[in-house]
Amino acid sequence: GQKEPTDLNALIDEFVQLSYHGLRAKDKTFNSAIDKELDPAVDNMLLVPQDMGRLILNLVTNAFHAVQQRQNQGSDATYRPVVTIVTQKLPHKVRITVKDNGTGIPENIRNKIFQPFFTTKPTGQGTGLGLSLSYDIVTKGYGGSIDVQSTLGEGSVFTIELPG
Ligand code: ADP
Ligand code: MG
Repeated sequence: GQKEPTDLNALIDEFVQLSYHGLRAKDKTFNSAIDKELDPAVDNMLLVPQDMGRLILNLVTNAFHAVQQRQNQGSDATYRPVVTIVTQKLPHKVRITVKDNGTGIPENIRNKIFQPFFTTKPTGQGTGLGLSLSYDIVTKGYGGSIDVQSTLGEGSVFTIELPG
């Protein structure tokens, strides 16, 4: 695909809805709050919409899976799933943050999650390709970076920074 002027926030709205409704269709008991803090200054970015859409879909679907899994563990009756998506125009870069209060990522696998075919999901439910593809899109497609911070049992934050 070609880079074209794209409203990043509109793309996020579209793919968050797609992901959430896809999961809800398979699990009617699944309910998550979705908190969006979208900076209007990223409404006209030079992006390949298909690539950036894929990246957003991967990250938010992982986030929804993580809160769904924690909800289904059922160990805390007061637990309320929340997925937060933030965009920020900063000097010389745009930051996208996808945060969840789901299961978190065990420390011993944190350096493996960006590798192709690494998955902790049951056979047939995860390809293990989402994050490796996302890594390639961000680094090779945009010269940007993707990082994760996570606390087991509390949740995860994925941060993408794109030059521009
Ligand atoms: P898949 O989703 O098909 O398993 P990914 O490349 O998207 O493949 O993710 C790889 C693994 O990283 C997941 O199986 C999961 O163990 C872990 N992971 C990714 N995102 C999250 C998240 N937000 N919370 C907890 N674990 C995550
Ligand atoms: Mg995934």
